[in-house]
Amino acid sequence: MQTDNDYDYPDSYYAETLGKTPMRPALMHPLDVDVCVIGAGLAGLTTALELLRKGKSVCVLEAKRVAWGASGRNGGFVNVGFAGSTTDMVKRLGHKNAAEAFQLSVDGVDYVRRQIKDLKMGDVLEGEGEFRVYRTDDAQAALRDCTNTKDISGDDLTYYDTGQTRAIMNSERYHHAVYDPRGFHIDPLKYCHGLAAEIERLGGHIFEGTKARDLTRSGTGWKITAHEAAISARHVVLCTSAYDFKLYPPVSRAMQPVATYVMVTDPMKDLLDQVISSNACIADTRRAGNYYRRLPDGRLLWGGRITTRQSEPFQLAQIMGRDMLSVYPQLSTAETSHAWAGLMGYALHSMPLIGQVENGLWMATAFGGHGLNTTAMAGFLIAGAISGDDNRYKLFAPYKRNWAGGPVGRAGVQAKYWAMQIQDWFDEKNQ
Ligand SMILES: Cc1cc2nc3c(=O)[nH]c(=O)nc-3n(C[C@H](O)[C@H](O)[C@H](O)COP(=O)(O)OP(=O)(O)OC[C@H]3O[C@@H](n4cnc5c(N)ncnc54)[C@H](O)[C@@H]3O)c2cc1C
Repeated sequence: MQTDNDYDYPDSYYAETLGKTPMRPALMHPLDVDVCVIGAGLAGLTTALELLRKGKSVCVLEAKRVAWGASGRNGGFVNVGFAGSTTDMVKRLGHKNAAEAFQLSVDGVDYVRRQIKDLKMGDVLEGEGEFRVYRTDDAQAALRDCTNTKDISGDDLTYYDTGQTRAIMNSERYHHAVYDPRGFHIDPLKYCHGLAAEIERLGGHIFEGTKARDLTRSGTGWKITAHEAAISARHVVLCTSAYDFKLYPPVSRAMQPVATYVMVTDPMKDLLDQVISSNACIADTRRAGNYYRRLPDGRLLWGGRITTRQSEPFQLAQIMGRDMLSVYPQLSTAETSHAWAGLMGYALHSMPLIGQVENGLWMATAFGGHGLNTTAMAGFLIAGAISGDDNRYKLFAPYKRNWAGGPVGRAGVQAKYWAMQIQDWFDEKNQ
């Protein structure tokens, strides 16, 4: 028996600042639409919005609340690129297609910025620019980062030496940095609510508390059973990410659910001014790295760690706080106000699964830890594909739905993470 509490957002800083929002009604009556989108995270919401803008009738089914999954819990970094490495992209796609796919990730960043402006989501944008900071004294690696970016996208990044880096991010752990002006950071939960409002303004339906339970072929389309009724749709788009492994296993079995964590401190503007003077988002280049950003009300949001365990670790706030102090011991008086976990979907190749699975059945999933721009990109690509005016989604066809290994694969992911941590530690110790 479900209760209202089952639909509450996790106890995050974002949920608290959003405040109480009324829950949308669940699906009670049959409906016939062009497209049924399953999952109201960033991927589902963007796909639905772009389909409506192309004149399709659309409904979105969400098991819990809009952006209840990773999309409403993430770090809020909107950056170019993918979770998979650019070097691997060039190897797999060839330089020309890799450059085109990479440009789509840049278009995804621009898309988010445009929605914030056009839909007047003023308080969603929280800071400009992105620093990638190096924990090893390897200037050549940072300079290579600049050259590789120029090669794949033609854009210029700025290199900061150790003195310049520490003048902005006052940590002895850091040696070099690269600044990317294209990145920015947002309140992701508010952004998703902005998209949802626009979907409804354009006549789309969003049903919350409506878990899609069954998906079957029906004539030339599909029948989706959810809550108290069924939907008939010409097309279905699966956007359930790591929060569903039952509805359509041929897609979900190609993913591993991977947890990652965020904490937010109490306001401490004066202290932060002395330690981190930039409002850009900041990520270190460890294989299993930390990412953080100043929030407009003087707090620090700190993210990091990955694990394959599904439950939230005991004393999460303390664990994350220790990670923060290992970089910035000056913040020892900081108090943590919130800490939470979220799940990401990862395919073995770490790249998104975007495309048509069967006739009229589409997937936009597995964005890993780099989903804010890539879900936007998937949204406009899938909407274009269903409308028949854009086939660029085919660029991602080489990223196949290979089985991710189930529980054994999960153990492998955890072992890989530990190995990455050891490698990071070793690199920093031996420089
Ligand atoms: C803690 C954390 C920090 C992150 N930080 C960043 C960052 O700073 N920058 C970045 O680019 N990326 C980041 N990511 C990754 C990014 O958040 C995700 O890649 C992205 O949000 C995935 O969006 P999605 O729509 O695919 O999935 P989700 O947001 O997980 O949405 C899936 C939705 O489907 C619903 N659902 C599941 N099954 C059903 C069903 N059967 N019927 C109906 N609904 C269903 C779920 O309830 C959920 O709302 C982070 C992720 C986490 C967890």
